[in-house]
Amino acid sequence: MISALTSGSIKAKAREFGFDLCGIAPAERFPELAFLREWIDRGYAGEMAYMARTADRRADVRAVVPGAHSVIVTGTLYNTVPPYADDEVPPTVARISRYAWGDDYHDVLKVRLDALLAWMRAHSPEAFEARAYVDTGPVQERVYAQYAGLGWIGKNTCLINPELGSWLFLGEIISTLPLEPDAPGLDQCGACTRCLEACPTGALVDAGALDATCCISYLTIELRGGIPEPLRPALGNHVYGCDICQDVCPYNQAAPVSPDPAWQPRAGLHRPALAALWRRTDDDLRALLKGSAMTRAKLTGLRRNVAIAIGNSGDRDAMAALGEAGADRPSVNGPMVREHAR
Ligand code: SF4
Ligand code: SF4
Repeated sequence: MISALTSGSIKAKAREFGFDLCGIAPAERFPELAFLREWIDRGYAGEMAYMARTADRRADVRAVVPGAHSVIVTGTLYNTVPPYADDEVPPTVARISRYAWGDDYHDVLKVRLDALLAWMRAHSPEAFEARAYVDTGPVQERVYAQYAGLGWIGKNTCLINPELGSWLFLGEIISTLPLEPDAPGLDQCGACTRCLEACPTGALVDAGALDATCCISYLTIELRGGIPEPLRPALGNHVYGCDICQDVCPYNQAAPVSPDPAWQPRAGLHRPALAALWRRTDDDLRALLKGSAMTRAKLTGLRRNVAIAIGNSGDRDAMAALGEAGADRPSVNGPMVREHAR
C-alpha cells in the first residue's frame, strides 16, 4: 500500500538524489517578497525586462501553482577547489565564476529535481499539482530557501548556509501537497560588512540591496550591449561573473568541497590565459562551452568581456592578440566587440 508522503521522507529521498540540503517552506506571501517590486522601480534590474514582466508572479508562488501549499527547496554545493584569492590569479588569467566551471547546473539539477518529483508522484496516495524549477522559474527562490530553513539571505544577497556557505545551487518544487514546514533560517551576518566593502563597483548599495546595473555579474552575463566605459576598469580580469562578495564571506572560508563530477572545472575554463581564450576560434569556443552555463553570455558577450579584461591586464601579448585577424573568429568582427577591442 502507498503511504502518505511526509516532509521527512521527501528530504531523505532528496539526499539520495544528490541534494545536499532540502527543506520545506509554506507557500505564503512572505514580506521579503515585496522588495522585488521596489528593486525594479529603483532601476536596479537594468535591462532584465523579464523581471518586471514576471514581478506579479514572483510575488507569490501561488500565482505559479494555484492552490500551492508547500515549496520544497533544495540546495546543492558546487564548491570544488580552494577559492580564488586576489593574489593567486595574475591579471593575465581570466576569472570565471565558479558556478560556471563545470556542467550547466540548470540541466543537471532539473533531471535530479524531476526524478524527485516523479518519486513523489509514485508514492503519493493522491494526485497533486506541482512544478519544478532550477533558477529559471518566476520564483524568488532565495526567500523560500530561507523560509525552508536552508540558511539566510546575506548582505551580499546570496543564500548562506551556516555549515556549507553560499556556493549553493537552489532548486524547488512548488506543490499543492500540505507538508510540514521547517523553521526559517536565522540571519547570521551580524555586524560583518566584508562583502559591501569588497565589491569593486559599489553594486551592493546597502545590506541585501544589489544595483545590478553596476554588478560585474550582470555586466558580463546579462547585459547584451556595450559595457559602460567608466565601469570597464573595475571588471579587472573577470570575463564571466564575479565571486568577490562570496569569496570574502567568512561563511565560505571553510566551505566543504563537492566531489560531484558535474561541477569540477572543465579543462579550458579553469584559469585560462586571456590571450589563449581570445585566440580560440569560434568553433573551438562553442565546443568548450557546450553544456556549460557560460553559453548565456553568447560568444559576442564573452569576446566583449575578454577584450576588456585584456585591456585591463596590460599584457602585451594579449593586446597584440586583439588586433590579429581571424576568419575563423567571426564573433570578433561585430561592431560591439570591435569597439571593446579598440
Ligand atoms: S558579484 Fe561582484 S560586482 Fe556584483 S555585487 Fe558581488 S562583488 Fe559586487
Ligand atoms: S560577508 Fe559578512 S555581511 Fe556579507 S554576506 Fe557574508 S557574513 Fe554577511
